[in-house]
This record gives sequence, C-alpha cells and structure tokens, in this order.
Amino acid sequence: MGDMIISNAAILEGKDLDIVRGYLEVRNGRIERISEGSPPTWDLNLKGGFILPPLVNAHTHVADSVAKELYLGKEQHEVVGRGGEKFKVLNSTPRTKLKRSIRSTLRYMLRTGTLAHLDFREGGREGIRLLKEASVSEVKTFILGRPSTIVETDEVLDESDGVGLPSLMDHEEDKLELISRKVKRARKLLSSHVAETHWKRKIEIKRAIKLRLSFAVHLTHADEDDLISLHKRGIPIVFCARSNSLLSVGLPPINSAIRSGVKFMLGTDNVGICEPNMFEEMKFAWAYVRMANPKAGEEEALALLKSVTIEPLEHFDIPWGPLEEGGEGTFIVLSRRGGLLDLRHAHAGIVNRVGSENIRAVFLDGENILRARD
Ligand SMILES: [Zn+2]
Repeated sequence: MGDMIISNAAILEGKDLDIVRGYLEVRNGRIERISEGSPPTWDLNLKGGFILPPLVNAHTHVADSVAKELYLGKEQHEVVGRGGEKFKVLNSTPRTKLKRSIRSTLRYMLRTGTLAHLDFREGGREGIRLLKEASVSEVKTFILGRPSTIVETDEVLDESDGVGLPSLMDHEEDKLELISRKVKRARKLLSSHVAETHWKRKIEIKRAIKLRLSFAVHLTHADEDDLISLHKRGIPIVFCARSNSLLSVGLPPINSAIRSGVKFMLGTDNVGICEPNMFEEMKFAWAYVRMANPKAGEEEALALLKSVTIEPLEHFDIPWGPLEEGGEGTFIVLSRRGGLLDLRHAHAGIVNRVGSENIRAVFLDGENILRARD
C-alpha cells in the first residue's frame, strides 16, 4: 500500500462535502488524517486542487457500447424498445466484441472518476454472465438482470444483484408481485424504468409504489406530488437527463426533487446514447436546473454533487464511504487547472467545469489506479 500525504488540497469531507483546506494522509489503504493547515512533510502538493469521493453512476446499460448513435432520426421505442435497433445490434455482434467494448467503457468510467455503477443487463442469465466476464476489478458493477419469464427470475437472482425491469407495464400486476416477492426473499435489488414516457406515467408510478422498488429510474414525467409519494415510501429516484433529451422523451423534474428534498441520484442510461461520464451528466443537469430556476445557487449545485457521491452510499452496498478519518482511502484527486482556476464557488465549480484534464488521480484503497493504467 502506498502511504501518502497530499498537501495544499481542498478536501470535500464527510456526508456534507464540507470543504477542508489542508492535507489528507493515507496509510495502509485508509484515510489516516484530514486536517487544516500544512503537514511537516508531503508527497504531493496539490496547489489548491480538490479531493472528493468517487462518483457513482446509478443507471447504465454498458452492453450497448457497440450500438452508438443508432438513435439518429428515431424515436425512443425504435431505439431501445422491444426489438429496437439496440437489440438488433446486440444480437448480431459476436460475444468477444461485446466484451471488448464493455471493458473499454468500464475503463473510460474509471478514468473519469466513476468507480461504481448499477447496470440493467438484458438477456437473462447469459446476459449477466457476459457482463461478469467483461468486468474490470477496479470498478464495482452491480448487475440487475432481466428475466424474460417469471420462471427465469430465480436463475437471474442466483447470479446477479437483483432485477431491473424495462417497464412496469410488460407484466400483469400479479406477475410483478411474484417477481417482487422472489427478489425480496433473496434480499436483492428490485428496480425498473418508471414514467420515462408520458403515456406510462400513471400506472407505472402506482405500481412502483405498490411494489416498493429499491429505486426507480427516470420519472421523466412525474410531477412533484408523484415524487413526494415515492419519497414517503422510501423509494429513491435515478434521473437520466442527457439520455432523456437525446431520446426526445422530455426532461426529468430535477428541480422539483431538489426543492422537495426527495432522494435522488443520477445515471447516464444507455452507452449507445451517451457517454457514461458523470462529470458531463452533472454539467448537463446543472445547466437544466439553472434554465428552469434562475434562483438556483450553491445549495442546488451541492445537491447535484451529493447525488453522484454521497446519496448512492445510503442505498447501495458501495465499498467505500464519505471522506473521513478511518475511512477507505478511495477518492478522486482533481488538479486546479483549466476550468477550475479562479473558482468563486467550489461545489458549483466542480459540478459545472471539471474536464478530463482535471482528473489527476483516482485512489482505490490507497493506490492510485489511474497511474497504474497510464
Ligand atoms: Zn435504462
């Protein structure tokens, strides 16, 4: 384990991402010390750069990394719906090529500071196995498999972290209840796309609440009352604003969620639609939040930053915690250069401006895994 002292840093500490200007010491893979001021010696002078928790992408479909830009000139259902363009490409691509493409995507995620993601994996047990074979050890992949029949639910649960359904309208309610019981008995995650398109809104939201999903993805067409109903049942939401826009289905109610205190996270959805880069997703979400609300400021920017760092720690078995003494030595290091020079507001600046040139290191249990890959 590389012990290390990083000085002259702005450290986003704890669950509130409070900024501590000082130094961070890593010893034996864990954070030994976070302190204001200067240490007597140091290994890296960050010159005002940032140290923050890794990012979590709460909704992906990484297997369609081979199916990029197939949405041109098409509606959502023609691209990702049953029998859509994405599935034609997946079904006709050799397994080795699919794996190579997934692995390249996971490495891209790592280089852009994302160390965990929750993936909806189609194709039953075989689909799950493909993703497992393609996975990389540094990125934690939670796989939510998709059974094509009720009977298949058990074998999907045997090999995955849960079930991710494409819609809550593909099965009758009693079948959904059956799937839900099986998932809960296995103590795994149950999720679904919910209200991505307007016509599905009412029934899907009602069913999401009744089934008590572990988390609900999209809610593009939910209003504030819908969000609060989900919140009251303890169901967090994952918004995918870029994907929704590129598929022309609308924009999700992120402002309403922030205003009403609803628990939410962000995801990038299909890799075939947009890159799984959570800094880019935050930038897009921030531009949209500001477009809809000129009063949005530090508080809203901080809510977005927490949605990709702290919030997922509350809901999933993520193998690290917030940055605190005694915690895992797992974090991202950002250089204070380019867009991050001369920032007036740290949280909003990180949300709005981080580019690939800023990502200086990614530490996993005290090791800089970015340097090992370069
Ligand atoms: Zn999706």
